[in-house]
Amino acid sequence: MVPARACNLHGRPDGVVLPVTGPRKMQKGMDKGWPEQLRTLWPGEIEWDSPMARWCTLQVGGPAKAIAMPASREELQSLIALLARLGVSWRVIGRGSNLLVSDAGYDGVIVMLGRKFAAISQHPGEKAGERRVRVEAGCSLMKLVNWCARQGLQGLEFAAGIPGSVGGAVVMNAGAWGMEMGETLFSVSFLRESGEIVDREKEALLFSYRHLETEGMIVVAAEFLLQAGDRQLIERKCAQLMRERKEKQPQGLANAGSFFKNPAGLPAAGKLIQDAGLKGVCLGGAQVSEVHANFLVNTGTATPQDFLGLMRLVQEKVAERFGVWLEPEVHIL
Ligand SMILES: Cc1cc2nc3c(=O)[nH]c(=O)nc-3n(C[C@H](O)[C@H](O)[C@H](O)COP(=O)(O)OP(=O)(O)OC[C@H]3O[C@@H](n4cnc5c(N)ncnc54)[C@H](O)[C@@H]3O)c2cc1C
Repeated sequence: MVPARACNLHGRPDGVVLPVTGPRKMQKGMDKGWPEQLRTLWPGEIEWDSPMARWCTLQVGGPAKAIAMPASREELQSLIALLARLGVSWRVIGRGSNLLVSDAGYDGVIVMLGRKFAAISQHPGEKAGERRVRVEAGCSLMKLVNWCARQGLQGLEFAAGIPGSVGGAVVMNAGAWGMEMGETLFSVSFLRESGEIVDREKEALLFSYRHLETEGMIVVAAEFLLQAGDRQLIERKCAQLMRERKEKQPQGLANAGSFFKNPAGLPAAGKLIQDAGLKGVCLGGAQVSEVHANFLVNTGTATPQDFLGLMRLVQEKVAERFGVWLEPEVHIL
């Protein structure tokens, strides 16, 4: 029997995690001509009918009606205002490294904060040796980590090797080696659907394990509080952590990192899955990695259904064996 389990703000009792940001339900009677209006009224870059498999590291997922890629805060603001006016459903993503999209894809607009939304700047902090690094949400986390290392700024080395965008990392409160994004942040800038920009300092932010409470707002920028340090030592630390990742994680097969959250007060999810005898188990083209049991990998032919089925199988087997229901860390769209 599946044990009773709690669900967080975004979780459903079946373990499916709902979007952190975004969409209102597609409004009834929504103007079917919205694509034309979007094309005419918004100047930014858009890809139409684009398979989400292209944009997600699991390499599965049906088509999004539109993928809009704002290149500036102003373009993002005008896009969100227009989508609200047209009554079009939207959802923000970063690099899709923590996303499982269904075969149905998304019948609205995926707002992707990407490479053009990625400026980094450095400012003095209040104390000696402190630096504040301000970065736009579309910047890749690895680019930020490398930039900080080159500037001799320490504090983000733990994030070396975590794929995805800065916005995604902040929303996910991404972490590794006992550190999380929330610990190094100074403040986060959000965009409300109303168009208002809200700046919140760390003390006002609600971080928890792999989650930041965003109240449905879009992360547009983040400011990190770092320390001046020795460039060579910082670069060496990053390189060492990257090597350790390579040794412990599957290489060459599409995945989304750890698929399940580690349950509180119990062995890590990967250990539970391994001890339930599931390492290497396949469902269609999806497989519990032979290298690390908390990674579900795409052996080349996986479908979203394969991943969802394998997720459920793992949840049931682990629940049968250990009485705990694993919650997905991956967000399901
Ligand atoms: C090989 C591999 C290793 C990984 N290792 C780690 C690890 O060590 N630690 C770890 O924590 N994670 C890890 N991950 C998971 C993933 O990289 C992180 O969760 C990452 O921070 C997600 O960033 P993203 O930009 O890809 O977000 P996406 O996957 O695009 O989005 C994730 C969620 O955030 C929301 N979101 C994204 N951007 C914004 C924004 N600007 N504003 C509001 N909401 C937004 C999306 O709607 C979605 O709900 C790994 C993944 C892979 C593939």
